[in-house]
Amino acid sequence: MDYRVLLYYFYTKIEDPAAFSKEHLAFCKDLELKGRILVAYEGINGTLSGTVEQTNKYMEAMKADPLFEGIVFKIDESEGHSFKKMHVRPKNELVNLGLEEDVNPHELTGRHLAPEDFLEEMKREDTVVLDVRNTYEFDVGHFRGAIRPEVKNFRDTPQWVRDNRELFEGKNVLTYCTGGIRCEKFSGWMKREGFGDVGQLHGGVATYGKDDTTKGELWDGQMYVFDERLTVPINRIEHVIVGVDHFDGTPCERYINCADPDCNEQILASEENEYKHLAGCTHECRVSPRNRYVIKNGLTEEQVKERLAAIGEEYDFVAAK
Ligand SMILES: [Zn+2]
Repeated sequence: MDYRVLLYYFYTKIEDPAAFSKEHLAFCKDLELKGRILVAYEGINGTLSGTVEQTNKYMEAMKADPLFEGIVFKIDESEGHSFKKMHVRPKNELVNLGLEEDVNPHELTGRHLAPEDFLEEMKREDTVVLDVRNTYEFDVGHFRGAIRPEVKNFRDTPQWVRDNRELFEGKNVLTYCTGGIRCEKFSGWMKREGFGDVGQLHGGVATYGKDDTTKGELWDGQMYVFDERLTVPINRIEHVIVGVDHFDGTPCERYINCADPDCNEQILASEENEYKHLAGCTHECRVSPRNRYVIKNGLTEEQVKERLAAIGEEYDFVAAK
């Protein structure tokens, strides 16, 4: 395996995110890296793929820049690029939390817990574990017993926590996310809201999964990642499947995008159910004239009709024309 995927973030002051982005994009393209980087006044957050040599050059350059002193990279091996293109985009916030009063993680943040300390605290009776990722991330894998906020976007999580205070009050609250960036702010916000000395998983689940002491213990399912791999394994002791197939509710860890480009919802589905349902999450998506699965497989109207009939649906000619 000559390729790698890097994941990193760093809270630091970037004076001109737009100018920085432009320059940084040229730098990344020069190194022939691919991936996605966000740049804001408050710092940088990125995930990249490239060869060992290319990623080494990138990490060296970043570590040598005083602006990013102390930056930590999480490194995964991979078999090739995990992205198709290279994007560097200026943003207002690194994580979209939309607080009325922002949190500066350099001033206020939760206790940073190393994987083995996080595991030990998770086992305590008075601990509640809060997953601060999105529900589609939670659904394919999470820490056993973790709380799943019923929100569509991360920015709605603070209000959800306020509405569900009783779950956290008087408890030892632990938060976690993929790489740790969302927790830096969120755990700080929770402290400010009065939820005590909140702890956060340092380096996120990405670090936890590589830790040789915990071996990913108490993680069920897979971890959702924001590249072409879609999910990666975490628990090296046991593998409990928690994902369920969108169509029949059977255990499933295979993500697909709904084939209707107007929907594009991420759903868990077996190959068999993808075939049967034309990769559409609803009837409307299945019969969409823009259904990518139908187009890609060159299915005729007759074939579409047959597959729909097999799952008890009628082909809606009006919608399809
Ligand atoms: Zn759909």
